[in-house]
Amino acid sequence: MKLPIKVVLIVSLLFTASFSQEKVYKLKLATTWGPTLSPLIDSAKNMAAMAKKMSNGRLIIKIDASNKHKAPLGILDMVKGGHYDMGHSASYYWKGKDIATLPFTSMPFGLTAPEQYAWFYYGGGLELMQKVYSKHKVLSFPGGSTGVQMGGWFKKEIKTLDDLKGLKMRIPGFAGEIMANLGVQVTNIAPGELYTALERNNLDALEWVGPSMDINMGFHKIASFYYTGWHEPASEMQFIVNKKTFNKLPADLQEILRVSMRLAAYDMYAQNYDMNATAWDKIKADFPDIKVKTFPKEIMDAMKKANKELRTSLSAKSFELKEVLDSQDAYIKKARAWSQMSDFLYIKDNIQ
Ligand code: CA
Repeated sequence: MKLPIKVVLIVSLLFTASFSQEKVYKLKLATTWGPTLSPLIDSAKNMAAMAKKMSNGRLIIKIDASNKHKAPLGILDMVKGGHYDMGHSASYYWKGKDIATLPFTSMPFGLTAPEQYAWFYYGGGLELMQKVYSKHKVLSFPGGSTGVQMGGWFKKEIKTLDDLKGLKMRIPGFAGEIMANLGVQVTNIAPGELYTALERNNLDALEWVGPSMDINMGFHKIASFYYTGWHEPASEMQFIVNKKTFNKLPADLQEILRVSMRLAAYDMYAQNYDMNATAWDKIKADFPDIKVKTFPKEIMDAMKKANKELRTSLSAKSFELKEVLDSQDAYIKKARAWSQMSDFLYIKDNIQ
């Protein structure tokens, strides 16, 4: 029997559709973090678990932590080169290769986490990020925020600018350059050696993240002044996807991947908020002598001045960086009045 051509076409289309429904896509993701570094590694794990469930097992993402691939700061290169399909890291790690990637993590005195998410998803931030990353042949997405990071643990109280002169402190990146401008002796020490360095006075101060991650490092046992944040108000982690890999995925899996990354990012922010609250509750109960301090105005003003000068000199070298910074500045100008009259005043008038 000869089937009409129309029927043959429909049957073959159905076959192709059901075949592509069954095809399993396996991607490999490399993280900057070790296998147990919560909450950072959890963001990548949650994303992969959601993608697997939502796709009914058609999208499988295998995660290699840094102990596996041994290149924690080489994620962009590995994803760009196709050695990995995806990465989970932080955009400011690539500032040496491409300075315009710096602001997508966090900028000193920049956006808070809610402001930054609003900027990414509704204020043009995500589009700017794709533009910056297009030359690296990868797509980049928010990967989870630590929220505001603390200014660090200090062994002595900092009252004047003179107290900072010659102070040995671990504070990396752009913020480190600002501190160096104020006379701080900025020292780079591997994370595993920080506790001993602080204990043996090879360091007078250091910044890490916030209570959620600081508690496991034990700094609160040897330094009793905990300064509030200014330098990383909303550090956003980052998912990177090789563009070719992404384009090869069927449209529904692309959407599942996009949604999984977005939800995992929000979830890390919530998870870390809870971890911070829990850790601080314990630290302040176990170590009641720890004093939370904010840098005096004289120091804050000097930091702001150094920050402005550094940004101006870097922006002069990169129009792309200037475009991102200008976009963030314009967003702060618009959003900060609302942040102030909503959460800030509500909390100020309702301190427990
Ligand atoms: Ca930090």
